Amino acid sequence: MTIEKVNIDTAAPDNPEASILLIYTGGTIGMAYDENREHLVPFNFSLIVEKVPELGNFRYLLSVINMDPPIDSSNVSLKEWYMLVQLIKENYAAYDGFVILHGTDTMAYSASALSYMLENLQKPVIFTGAQVPIGRTRTDARENLISALQIAAKKINGKSAVPEVCIYFHNLLIRGNRGKKVESRYFNAFKSENYPVLAKAGIKIDYTWHAIRPHAEAHFKVHEHLDDRVAILKLFPGITAATIKSILHIPDLRGVVMETFGAGNAPTWPWLLNLLQDAIDRGIYILNVSQCDEGRVDQGRYETSKYLLNMGVIGGADITTEAAITKMMFVLGLKLDKQKTKELLGSNLRGEISI
Ligand code: ASP
Repeated sequence: MTIEKVNIDTAAPDNPEASILLIYTGGTIGMAYDENREHLVPFNFSLIVEKVPELGNFRYLLSVINMDPPIDSSNVSLKEWYMLVQLIKENYAAYDGFVILHGTDTMAYSASALSYMLENLQKPVIFTGAQVPIGRTRTDARENLISALQIAAKKINGKSAVPEVCIYFHNLLIRGNRGKKVESRYFNAFKSENYPVLAKAGIKIDYTWHAIRPHAEAHFKVHEHLDDRVAILKLFPGITAATIKSILHIPDLRGVVMETFGAGNAPTWPWLLNLLQDAIDRGIYILNVSQCDEGRVDQGRYETSKYLLNMGVIGGADITTEAAITKMMFVLGLKLDKQKTKELLGSNLRGEISI
């Protein structure tokens, strides 16, 4: 992978209102239809700049890093997250904000991962993308990109207005670790789960100030290690012992995000409880996440979750699966002792759960 940084010609490069680093990773926003292969394939970001001449009107210093080759976000892995936090770390002092162009498919995972990896963030890191490629007449890319840049540039009393990792999509600014892709055909691709949107763009951009995280007092810190020895176990009526065993006995497994029913309920079949207890006894952390989009895990409310609470399954509150699996990777990557690991998995680290 090669990294190339270029400045865009803008209206005020010498006396800019704000400086923004745009990082292009790929996704539909920068795809074109390949007639021969008969599907959408990523193309070079320099073509995106040609397609949005409005970028030149901004009174910003606008630099662009083009990830080469750009990828469909279905191919995102820890390698790209490490690269993104490394780029932000290297450029942190020089820019007021960061906009990451990313495919929508895994954007909520990437935004969640970065929210943990960038601790005490004082500047905005806004993910955006599009449902229709930038070259198409009905593209949503232009509005998404332009508003994301304006939000990243917004300051109040000289400080960034939104010092968080966010997703901006189809008029909504969403906390990154609360976002979920809920739509693949229409423009409203993302929803904020269990948390108010941070801003809504119409004629003006209306910010929900009380929902935005305050500026951290402590120093910005970048975490560059995640633990990928994790799995997601989604329960369903009729799930067999063989299926559960095959997941809980993955060699070297360290953590499981278990998607349960309703308020965190699971079947009370003895063989299931024995398998879960055995996994916990072998040192595997299990984080209980609800399959419901809204609402929260409340272990102990029903008999069907009391067993989980008693055996040491950790309640995930109102976290999304995307934020939970990346939280598991992050917390395990810190290599803390058992008590501290359990404590962090159940606590609010970056606004991903409501306490
Ligand atoms: N497959 C694309 C991606 O996630 C979809 C998109 O960008 O909307 O990269």
